[in-house]
Amino acid sequence: MAGESSVAVRTPEEAVARIAYLSSDVIVSVQPSLASDSGFSTTLKNLAAQKVESLVAKSSDAVPDIQSVRYNADPLLSVFAPIRSGRFVSVTTTSAVLLPSIAHLYKLASLPVVLHVALEPKSFPDYSAITSIRNSGWTFLQSGSLQEAQDMALTAHALAIRSGKGVIHFFDPSSKTKGESISPEDTAVVRDILNLDNVRRFQSAPISGSVIYADDGRVALVSEQPEPLAGGSTQAKVQPSEGDAETPTATSHASSKSSQQSVTSSPPSVSTATTIEAAAPVVTSEDIFNYLTSIWSQLSQSVGRQYSAFEWKGPRNAENCIFIFGSDAALFSRAIGQAQAGDIFANAGVITARLYRPWLGAKIIGAIPRSVKKIAVLEQVSRKTTKWGPLLLDVLTSVKSSVGGVETIVGHQLGYISNETVNQALRGIFQNLTSEKPIQNLEVGERDRPQPISEYKLEKPKLETAYTKILNQLFGDRAFIANSLDSDNAGISNTISASPDYGFGALLAKKERRQRFVAEVKEAAGSGRFLTEVPKRSLAKWVSAAEDVKKVEAAAEDVISKLTVDNSRLSKALLQNKALFHKQSLWLVGSDAWSYDLGNSGVHHVLASGENVNVLIIDSTPYSERAAADANRRKKDIGLYAMNFGNAYVASTAVYSSYTQVLQAMDEADKFNGPSIVLAYLPYFGEHDSPLTVLQETKKAVDLGYWPLYRWNPENENKGEPNFSLDSERIKKELKQFLDRDNQLTQMMRKDPLFGAALSQDFGTEIRAQQKRKAKDAYNQLLEGLFGAPLTILFGSDNGNAQSLAKRLGTRGRARGLKTAVMAMEDYPVEDLPTEENIVIITSTAGQGEFPQNGKPFWDAIKDSTELDLASVKFSVMALGDSHYWPRREDKIYYNKPGKDLDRVLANFGAKRLTDIGLGDDQDPDGYQTGYQEWEAKLWEALGVTNVGSIPDEPPPITNEDIKIASNYLRGTIVEGLKDTSTAAISAPDQQLTKFHGTYMQDDRDVRDERKAQGLEPAYSFMIRCRLPGGVSTPKQWIQMDDISTTLGNETMKLTTRQTFQFHGVVKGKLKPAMQAINRALMTTLAACGDVNRNVMCSSLPSQSRYHREVFASSKKISDHLLPSTSAYHEIWLTDDDDKKTQVAGEAVQDFEPLYGPTYLPRKFKISIAIPPHNDVDVYAHDVGLIAIKGEDGHLVGFNLLAGGGMGATHNNKKTYPQTGRMLGFVKTADVHIACEKVMLVQRDHGDRKNRKHARLKYTIDDMGVDSFRSKVEELWGKKFQPPKPFHFESNIDTLGWTRDETGLNHFTFFIENGRIEDTADFPMKTGLREIAKVHKGEFRLTGNQHLILSNVADEDLPAMKSLMAKYKLDNVQFSGLRQSSSACVAFPTCGLAMAESERYLPILISKLEACLEENGLRQDSIVMRMTGCPNGCARPWLAEVAFVGKAYGAYNMYLGGGYHGQRLNKLYRSSIKEEEILDIMKSLLKRYAAERDEGEHFGDWTIRAGVIKETRGGQDFHEGVAEEESDEE
Ligand code: SF4
Repeated sequence: MAGESSVAVRTPEEAVARIAYLSSDVIVSVQPSLASDSGFSTTLKNLAAQKVESLVAKSSDAVPDIQSVRYNADPLLSVFAPIRSGRFVSVTTTSAVLLPSIAHLYKLASLPVVLHVALEPKSFPDYSAITSIRNSGWTFLQSGSLQEAQDMALTAHALAIRSGKGVIHFFDPSSKTKGESISPEDTAVVRDILNLDNVRRFQSAPISGSVIYADDGRVALVSEQPEPLAGGSTQAKVQPSEGDAETPTATSHASSKSSQQSVTSSPPSVSTATTIEAAAPVVTSEDIFNYLTSIWSQLSQSVGRQYSAFEWKGPRNAENCIFIFGSDAALFSRAIGQAQAGDIFANAGVITARLYRPWLGAKIIGAIPRSVKKIAVLEQVSRKTTKWGPLLLDVLTSVKSSVGGVETIVGHQLGYISNETVNQALRGIFQNLTSEKPIQNLEVGERDRPQPISEYKLEKPKLETAYTKILNQLFGDRAFIANSLDSDNAGISNTISASPDYGFGALLAKKERRQRFVAEVKEAAGSGRFLTEVPKRSLAKWVSAAEDVKKVEAAAEDVISKLTVDNSRLSKALLQNKALFHKQSLWLVGSDAWSYDLGNSGVHHVLASGENVNVLIIDSTPYSERAAADANRRKKDIGLYAMNFGNAYVASTAVYSSYTQVLQAMDEADKFNGPSIVLAYLPYFGEHDSPLTVLQETKKAVDLGYWPLYRWNPENENKGEPNFSLDSERIKKELKQFLDRDNQLTQMMRKDPLFGAALSQDFGTEIRAQQKRKAKDAYNQLLEGLFGAPLTILFGSDNGNAQSLAKRLGTRGRARGLKTAVMAMEDYPVEDLPTEENIVIITSTAGQGEFPQNGKPFWDAIKDSTELDLASVKFSVMALGDSHYWPRREDKIYYNKPGKDLDRVLANFGAKRLTDIGLGDDQDPDGYQTGYQEWEAKLWEALGVTNVGSIPDEPPPITNEDIKIASNYLRGTIVEGLKDTSTAAISAPDQQLTKFHGTYMQDDRDVRDERKAQGLEPAYSFMIRCRLPGGVSTPKQWIQMDDISTTLGNETMKLTTRQTFQFHGVVKGKLKPAMQAINRALMTTLAACGDVNRNVMCSSLPSQSRYHREVFASSKKISDHLLPSTSAYHEIWLTDDDDKKTQVAGEAVQDFEPLYGPTYLPRKFKISIAIPPHNDVDVYAHDVGLIAIKGEDGHLVGFNLLAGGGMGATHNNKKTYPQTGRMLGFVKTADVHIACEKVMLVQRDHGDRKNRKHARLKYTIDDMGVDSFRSKVEELWGKKFQPPKPFHFESNIDTLGWTRDETGLNHFTFFIENGRIEDTADFPMKTGLREIAKVHKGEFRLTGNQHLILSNVADEDLPAMKSLMAKYKLDNVQFSGLRQSSSACVAFPTCGLAMAESERYLPILISKLEACLEENGLRQDSIVMRMTGCPNGCARPWLAEVAFVGKAYGAYNMYLGGGYHGQRLNKLYRSSIKEEEILDIMKSLLKRYAAERDEGEHFGDWTIRAGVIKETRGGQDFHEGVAEEESDEE
């Protein structure tokens, strides 16, 4: 192979894998698990990774397709589809898969597939894996050494290509000559021997037929006719009868008459593998022999090594010989070669079968010298099923009936032989052979063979333990998992004990045991052998409750205590089986291997038995792979199967989609009196996948109905409830059909018509295509009446710019008399393209030069087209992008790439340019408008419509300010939008308005692409943010919030950087109930977002409780004072549908906004209060930052007021920047809310309402100057700021763990990673906090760093609280300093602005850095690291010592040099770097920091002192002197 010649090949698997790689289009690489490689797969993957070219692969890069399949997932199923489509397939596997795949082997034998089989167990292979399948119609080749493995692998491929039939190449993978190595194959030789002409002929004539269970495979045939024993060939053809394909009767004949020559042929009607002829020629064993002879002679000429069907080693005059079928032929040959003259085995010969099947009986005679009289047959077959070994029978029949001089043939069973024991073994064999009465089946070699180590050791994949953990968590000691790998099954191997059949048996035994126990108890209850009377009554009660899960627990406790007291002999005897008083929850756990044909019987047994047994089946096929998977991989839908059975409880669950639903399903399964099947989805590609991948895959599968979440309980019918409950939105077709049949669907649809709409959505792009066609035709009809040239305008747009330009262009075109049609690129039927007259495409640029979402399908459809002829089409392209987005020179190609690609490809199809491509650049003075205007003018000119008389004025674009004014104090059409059930969305203007009400519309970005592909609208849902001044919540409120997240949201809560609760995934229909529930908890969401003053933050500070209370009161006062007055909030959210009854106390206020006016503020407005020395609210980052000042008496006297801090910025737009607040001066406590109000009012009147990117207070102050801003505030206020009072900050992070305040109360700060409250199988945090809230008497405080404080715990409550915390692992604060000081915003999947992952990725990144921290002794050091998914800056990244801000998916801008206590902004260090680079940079910086830092010096300060980054003194120099200058060259 190219560039590989120096590699030494050391193992047979490696040698074989290399040949298979060169000789195949597809390699099915069977692995123990997706995470553990096989002996072959490492080599295969390495070659593919290096893009080494195969000799036969027809893929574009000539790299074969390597399909990794788990050994227990029916691997040979993967062979059918590719081999039928004319691709050469080989399989690399161990012998473990052969027997279970026997049905496939029969079908595949007539196709040119090569199976390379490493025999198992590795230390001492059992050749019965081969002998058992010897009659399946394959050709079997054997190799016995490393070099032979290479040569036979090549022979196998060459033979499969020539014969068109399947070849199995088997070998013992353990090399007994350690350290041996050979040279890699010579590619030229491989090419020669494979014969590429034959290869191409096969590849160009794919085999028809697509099913594998009809008569499309060959029938294994073994000729019943004896072959002439000395040369010559017999056309031993057996025509199969009709039924042969289904019941290969020939096989059973064959097994009893195995010694004749087999014919690897198939009837012409079913074997059309290799040629394009209608009927394939029959391939006889003689043909196989001839092919082999020619291949081996070619091989011998090229490499000098010779091979033949039977190989003889020894003197030509030998009288005795051994025929070996096992691993040790070389060992025996060597020992015989070195024999002393007197040795009984001196001068003996050794014969081996290189070609095991077809068995060429005649050739063996030719191979054995005529002098041979006695033959010892040695078979390494552990699993003997017949009295005589199969090889013995072969040899007997072939040799005995010959005319040679062989007199004695004696079979031996070959045990383990080593270098040390070989001579002794030989002596034994020859003594027996030459004795007068040789013993048949004598065992030779050691019985005590090394413990067989199966390469495919059973191990539960790590990820899959999630579900068993839940079982244990739910049922505690009651959970019994019968086939658990860690359970103790004395004397039974893992392979057996983990099988469903064994597990089922174990469960039945367990059940019987308990039934016997119940009978014993019953009897005891009636006996008089107790010392006291009490146990009898308890026992009787227990017996009646014994099968009732709900009642039995209490009865069991009672019985046990009574028996203990009684202490009679009978009591003691019963107590010996104490566990049986409880009713165990019996579970069998299986993988999705059970859903293939071969493993399905386990499930069937359970269902058919009707026993009360629970089965948990974990399916791990990722959604993205299901499409790639061969349709023939007939994975059974076990859920449907079980429901059709009728007697079972069935649930389909996914822990990464709904944790609660898993719990519910398991609980219901446990209670159901009969078989229960719980299907659990856990998709992963490799077992080391991060939870993020698993989560994304799960969401796709659930959202699109591939893996619906549901529960089916056939007993519900009796209770008058529906049997079926759907817990996710969509279901797949098959399930729908089932429900249709079951009449459930109709009932459900009647019950909930909304749901019907979701059900009736179907898959398929067909519908989508038709929709497109219909829409366009309708549009064309509309245009019919118009004159003028047609102009079709398509847009590809992510952020709306390209879309609004396209719409405006359409309006302008119409005004010029053109027949314009405007639509998204994805909505355009591409087949119409050649019929267009004029087409214009406006597209923006996404990510790394990619098409926007709605442009991709169009691009995918045309980019590789070979048929488009656009000779009569005129076109023009306008591209929108940012020339500085990717500052590195090598990344310049991404600038406007989609537009440029389109322009090029359309021209290549023959279309004529109306104008040159227009390039809109965000960096131009007017942004993209600069380039656009120039381009548009040229376009009209090219279309001849420049001067068309008076053109009506266009309405100005609608701005946020217009929306606010028109909204009637934030009403808009929100009410109407909520009632519209035809969409899960609300209108665009209402999306702006609902922000003021504390809710944003979002869509799930993990499933956006998939839904688009299926013609569905995005998965819209809403984020709701509460307003919680100072972040203080009562335990009751905590429970109420927890309820809302579980019942109305996505089962998680986010504690935000603004110290409040945020819910995600609330669908439109649940929005109003959620708002009402929040209000019932005496919280509101009004003004949590929007252009108003938002939640007022306050230091959480657990150590000074009394003082905190005073400061907190101010935060509440400011918050209330600045709350908007509109009654729209009450009207929309808190009234019943009859629009009368208000839900909360108090009258609706008149609609008048005394502070805000009808247009509210130009932009959002944020206030925070810090209590020195803690800056845990990042006081510098807000529009108003208040620093609490303590008087000499220890009480609050007032605040230093900072104004004009703010985080949001736009990448590459130097006019935008983060800023720290500037000091206006000191205000007294009593005045502080008024001072805040006045600052806000000056901003209201002077803030920029034209440009939202320049509308925050920071720009107003910077434009006005601090002094004149201060004067304006003082003027309005009528008072003056006093000079600021001294203060001192130490940090902006939280201190985790317990503290005690001055009043003697205790506080514990929990570590809540990135503020996400959720349950996982490993960490039931949400449940734990809920349990704590149930008993907690103090309060909860949410911190600005997204953590949580359990506040005000009295000493007497401490022990109980501590034990509760320990139970739920909530007391853990042992995290690295870096992790403790980190925070991330939400970003994907819900935030619509996210460009990259944040909350889901930062923990992973930190884990990757922790080893380095450890190495450099920095584990305990606090370094403030923050990440956000976009430059909006929700997690305040620009005040962190090191920050990552999302630039594109997987790419971040890196910032360094922030101040440790949030006082200094950081600066851009590197642009658009990915994980690898981030880790490299961080590791080297951390190493340097550890070595170079001064005592107590923080990381951010060090980066500046060490010259790594320049100091940022204020927002206005944020862009100055960045470490990585952007290149301005195009
Ligand atoms: S910083 Fe950006 S990505 Fe992160 S939550 Fe805020 S807006 Fe979304």
